Amino acid sequence: MTEIIDGNAVAQSIRDDLVASIDRLVDAGQRPSLATVLMSEDPASETYVSMKQDDCEEVGIEAIDIDIDPDADAAELYDTIEDLNADEDVNGILVQMPVPDHVEDRSVLRAIDPMKDVDGFHPENVGRLVAGDARYKPCTPHGIQKLIESAGVNTEGKDAVVVGRSDIVGKPMANLLIQKAPGGNATTTVCHSRTENLAERTRNADILVAAAGVPEMIDGEMIQEGATVIDVGINRVDADTEKGYELVGDVEYESAKEVAGAITPVPGGVGPMTRAMLLYNTVKATGLQHDIDVDL
Ligand code: NDP
Repeated sequence: MTEIIDGNAVAQSIRDDLVASIDRLVDAGQRPSLATVLMSEDPASETYVSMKQDDCEEVGIEAIDIDIDPDADAAELYDTIEDLNADEDVNGILVQMPVPDHVEDRSVLRAIDPMKDVDGFHPENVGRLVAGDARYKPCTPHGIQKLIESAGVNTEGKDAVVVGRSDIVGKPMANLLIQKAPGGNATTTVCHSRTENLAERTRNADILVAAAGVPEMIDGEMIQEGATVIDVGINRVDADTEKGYELVGDVEYESAKEVAGAITPVPGGVGPMTRAMLLYNTVKATGLQHDIDVDL
């Protein structure tokens, strides 16, 4: 029987566990707070930001919502980040990507105080992750680690294959999988658009993480019998639905489910975990900034 890994349920248990840590911080006079900065009118980005704010409020994290006109000068964004860096009442800062073309995204990530960088994308935090001394693990790969753990799968000594090498998913995922630590110790292969014989590699995976952003590119024939399959992709494809589209992953779910030992659905797999781990990092950041043990 294939196990369907329920991301909503695992995310809920993470949020439940965070409540005790948040209570501890509130008792010490430090309610955690997350500032989201949106410099875009893209409906998807607006939705992501508003979901993150709702998530915060649900668990008792203060959400600070900052909108910047996408036509404004880049300096306005940098000034905002500087103010948030200096504000002791702000524990986490998230700038929703993508920013407009006239703003250089790498400079934006570098401008955020690494202690408040709850996305974990600042070079200092990336460096710490690679060095095996992570401060804030990036939310999506960290959430995937939790999903794999929740399925009772031990990564140690296993062959893991990550399809995708982006800075936000593929690379940090591979880094976590090779760490000499729980949730790591896997022999890890990273594939990308130039990889030859992709199917040969994916078929070798005990643990397969698909993060390419290509609808249903991995089918059951590319999966090893019994493998743990984590589908990160969120792709809109035209469909005869009310909205005119539906969301599919990078994995062709129906055929993959026949072969996999455990698999995440889309939606309801990795997505909720990414959101939960942002809350986790915000709570962790508040504890670190005020030297309060939040037991995470
Ligand atoms: P990017 O577009 O930044 O990276 C995609 C990666 O996949 C690249 O490394 C690319 O290779 C590789 N790739 C593309 N096509 C192929 C192919 N045919 N074969 C092998 N590799 C390929 O995407 P992201 O990492 O940001 O996101 C990936 C997917 O995950 C998207 O669908 C996104 O929406 C989703 N996502 C979901 C999240 C969640 O919470 N569930 C969070 C973040 C992302 P190359 O480097 O050579 O171009």
